[in-house]
Amino acid sequence: MPELPEVETIARGLAATTVGKHIHAIDVFLPKMLITPNKQKINILLGDSITAVSRRAKYVVLNLASGRRLAIHLRMTGRLIFYPNTDVSRPPHTHVSFTFTDGSQLHFADMRQFGRLRLIDVSETWDADGGIEPLSPEFTAEYLWGLLHAHRAQLKNLLLNQNYISGLGNIYVCEALWQARLSPIKLTHTVSRPAATRLHRAIVQILEKAIAARGTSIDDYVDSRGNAGTFQHSLQVYGRTNKPCFRCKDRIVRTIQAQRGTWSCPSCQK
Ligand SMILES: [Zn+2]
Repeated sequence: MPELPEVETIARGLAATTVGKHIHAIDVFLPKMLITPNKQKINILLGDSITAVSRRAKYVVLNLASGRRLAIHLRMTGRLIFYPNTDVSRPPHTHVSFTFTDGSQLHFADMRQFGRLRLIDVSETWDADGGIEPLSPEFTAEYLWGLLHAHRAQLKNLLLNQNYISGLGNIYVCEALWQARLSPIKLTHTVSRPAATRLHRAIVQILEKAIAARGTSIDDYVDSRGNAGTFQHSLQVYGRTNKPCFRCKDRIVRTIQAQRGTWSCPSCQK
């Protein structure tokens, strides 16, 4: 599933390619992929143009000249692919496509069909799931310590909760906990201030490195031009079952936590 670095990479790619383009045609092949307010028709966007592309949590947000926005969540296998040429045949699993006046196209494809494209009207307030952005100035070590001590949850489960912190998923939470030398099942209210500071630094560093590497391509993720990311080559713990820990040489174990595979080192993550 695309997490913050992958969605950020897609948003930056679309910002570079689609800003300023005018929507000439919209084809909807699978209506359930669309969420629109008051049964408004998506065709209200014909003639509108893209003024900016940004990311909020795990959503790519297309900002339009009308003040309307399109917020796209890719869920498991969603893709947003930009084609600069006019002679594009529809790629497999394309459910919505936008054709711009210059002939270029943006396709929203999703093999498993869990993704959604949401039209947000001018007067509508919308703010994803409400969690703090981990790369914002507001997300400090002190903030994280306060968040951890306001709850009694297993560390990994709290970090994955989008209501608290936006954009972290299984890969980057496993990596951050390994870097900070913290067990995924440690209870949040028992994390010391120095440990919270280590964890804060790990989260920020790993997200920034993964964005610089254009995301992690293990399953289906590709960027807005269809290219894979490269951070999978830098993973320290995720997916490394039975391989030696890069820090202490003990074996990495895979456990199941909240129905999800979890990788950690039993020796150096306490
Ligand atoms: Zn270790």
